[in-house]
Amino acid sequence: MSTSIERVNCLIIGSGPAGYTAAIYASRANLKPVLYQGLEPGGQLMITTDVENYPGYPEGVQGPQMMEDFRKQAERMGTDIRYGLVTSVDFSGPVHKAVIDEELTIEAHSVIISTGASAKWLGLESEQRLNGHGVSACAVCDGFFYKEQEVAIVGAGDTAAEEATYLSKLCSTVHMFVRRDQMRASKVMQERVMNASNIKIYWNTETVEVLGDKVVEGVKVINNKTNEESTIPVTGFFVAIGHKPNTDIFKDYLDTDDVGYIITGPDSTKTKVPGVFASGDAQDKIYRQAVTAAGTGCMAALDAERYLTEKGIV
Ligand code: NDP
Repeated sequence: MSTSIERVNCLIIGSGPAGYTAAIYASRANLKPVLYQGLEPGGQLMITTDVENYPGYPEGVQGPQMMEDFRKQAERMGTDIRYGLVTSVDFSGPVHKAVIDEELTIEAHSVIISTGASAKWLGLESEQRLNGHGVSACAVCDGFFYKEQEVAIVGAGDTAAEEATYLSKLCSTVHMFVRRDQMRASKVMQERVMNASNIKIYWNTETVEVLGDKVVEGVKVINNKTNEESTIPVTGFFVAIGHKPNTDIFKDYLDTDDVGYIITGPDSTKTKVPGVFASGDAQDKIYRQAVTAAGTGCMAALDAERYLTEKGIV
């Protein structure tokens, strides 16, 4: 299939905090970046309500409003922001190629990947319906709203253990549902969970339904050994069963870990392909915060600028 071709200095893929921050820096460095927003413009923050931990918003801000602010700032600096999805890339040559919606090929001297990650969900109708109304995939973002209340968390990996421990410092009781008779989390993280007096672990337990009409009021679970069902009143329901980075289209060219997070060099956003940089949740499986994503977006733009300068392109 033939597509039209456009050549740019800096292509930014993705429109969460990492992508927009990269855009602000790249624009101000006169790299004339072109940013493609992807399938979910604004990224994961578009499904968040109050954000109270992003510095600079003393009264807090709604996730979608914050992303609108990021977008406007990038636009004001001159970023060419476009709707569109990068459907494939070719990083085999000296100039990198990205196909947009099967229609346009962008040839880019540098590429900043900020495609983010998506939280995994259980796939229950009630979970989807109450998402943002008591159902959350981020304890650090939303735990504060359930201070002194009873909450539930699903999962048994390091994320679930870390988030359960975090919640135990805020909430009166944390009901933790583990689908097997053991946890996947590292020993030290498991010990923290076991040592928290207000975390109640339910082994061999799966979620049947999140209860509530407009907001979460409880959860129905089943013990998969005894088939016994029970209902637990909670106001918050946290899902911590892992994330999937949105990096499938890059995996033929870049090193990733076994889950798909792009591997970058130490203290930099450089991937193994010169001129291709990775930032935000596509590359960070540990912190995954808006502010850390914005930080690595900034780093990626600075790395791209240095690369383009060294090549004599800008
Ligand atoms: P993991 O894939 O490690 O764990 C996912 C957990 O969710 C597993 O316990 C799994 O159960 C459970 N799970 C999956 N699907 C379901 C389901 N449908 N119903 C119920 N439970 C389910 O993901 P994490 O996000 O915890 O960790 C990802 C990576 O990040 C890991 O390498 C981890 O070590 C790392 N990490 C490190 C941290 C740190 O060092 N501070 C903090 C957070 C993450 P099962 O075990 O039965 O498969």
